[in-house]
Amino acid sequence: MKNDDLTAIEVAEGIKSGTISCEELILKIYERIERSELNAFITLSKENAVEQAIEVDKKRNEEEYVRKKLLGVPIAIKDSISTKGLQTTCASEILSGYIPPYDATVIEALKREGAIIIGKTNMDEFCMGTSTETSYYGPTINPHDLSRVPGGSSGGSAAAISAGETVLALGSDTGGSIRCPASFCGVVGLKPTYGLVSRYGLIAYANSLEQIGPMASNVTDTALLLEVIAAKDERDSTQVKIKNNAATNYCASSLLNVNEDADKEVKGMKIGVPKEFIEGVSPEVEKSVWNAVHKFEDSGAEYELISMRDLKYALAAYYIIAMSEASSNLARFDGLRYGLRSGKDEDWHTTFSRIRGEGFGDEVKRRIILGTYALSAGYYGRYYLKALKVRTLIKNEFAAALKKRDILAMPTMPFVAFKLGEKIKDPLSLYLADVNTVPVNLAGVPSISIPCGVSYGLPIGLQLVSGHFEEDKILRAALCFDNAR
Ligand code: GLN
Repeated sequence: MKNDDLTAIEVAEGIKSGTISCEELILKIYERIERSELNAFITLSKENAVEQAIEVDKKRNEEEYVRKKLLGVPIAIKDSISTKGLQTTCASEILSGYIPPYDATVIEALKREGAIIIGKTNMDEFCMGTSTETSYYGPTINPHDLSRVPGGSSGGSAAAISAGETVLALGSDTGGSIRCPASFCGVVGLKPTYGLVSRYGLIAYANSLEQIGPMASNVTDTALLLEVIAAKDERDSTQVKIKNNAATNYCASSLLNVNEDADKEVKGMKIGVPKEFIEGVSPEVEKSVWNAVHKFEDSGAEYELISMRDLKYALAAYYIIAMSEASSNLARFDGLRYGLRSGKDEDWHTTFSRIRGEGFGDEVKRRIILGTYALSAGYYGRYYLKALKVRTLIKNEFAAALKKRDILAMPTMPFVAFKLGEKIKDPLSLYLADVNTVPVNLAGVPSISIPCGVSYGLPIGLQLVSGHFEEDKILRAALCFDNAR
């Protein structure tokens, strides 16, 4: 870990007590970013961030400031999330130069709590990818090995945390985009229950699957960030109103135990290990995950090898649903309303085709074409509808598996970070890498990826899954690993 090992909680406390200068911290972060070869950021907001830091240092004693949970904490935002006045491109040429006139709800919440946005992170174009190589702004590099990918699509966010170029980050996860890069870069990433965090201001790829989620170097910070972004929002009708505001308990429950014996958190917990998630993963990943499961066992949890037979259909169903939704969502990028402009005297049809032809990358075009095909009158029943039925099966299967158990444990990714350029020419091989992450999005349940081992210097991620709105369970279990590191 970089950042002199300071967690977000320590940064906020240090600033409030005057032991940390927010301005110095922010300047140090930018110094690192400016020297970095990782290409983790698309846009920086240095001027604003430094200005804000100076203000924080000045006002840190004021009552209103003392109350802020993330006072002065640097945070990097995935470029799929709208930030008022700050370029938001979704890593696409078609949105280059687009400056949103409003903040996403999660950004409003971060600002309310005093976080400092340092920039927008690199990602796969429109979140479509597993390696951050489809970005129009060039790939991000894995800080653990400069010849490898950081995972994707939130690769910039994960790489930046891992290299100390930020303390916290936001990602978005449609089929693994938070957990995959967290796994490849050795950080923590959580995909919340569908409906917990507002999607207002998130540029849509596949609305029925995606959530914005927290990324950090440790579990407690992840919980704190989740608590902040799970703010209620009338503008997202898919947000679920939870009684007793369970969201505010995530951090409290984790925090309470951070200095105590985290092991007691898992005592008596029932853990299911679905064998379908382990079959076919690389031996070093399998070994690390079993070690992790045995660690839970040593701490007093019970585990059981279980089977989830319908999982084999999840990947195909995911890609049909995600591409179908993408083909419809991306229709709005027409060269008139956002970003790239034609500037030519031509009719609408010509502009529409030309701008989209020039402005979208190959992977995005591939998905628009395949999604349109799956939704077309002749094939709708054969592909899209069938995929929706599979989705119901998967949802039921998770519900059944979690009925008798608290959490499920499995590898996040089947292997460690692969080489840059290794898979990008073969889209199917990239899609296959998502085999363990996409079922969770189909079911809408929460899941966290935490570092559980290293193979030849490359991090391995453990994925923990719980029932809808039971984020506290996976956070409590994950805490065991935080203390062990
Ligand atoms: N790799 C998956 C895809 O390309 C997931 C991406 C994501 O979660 N945004 O669809």
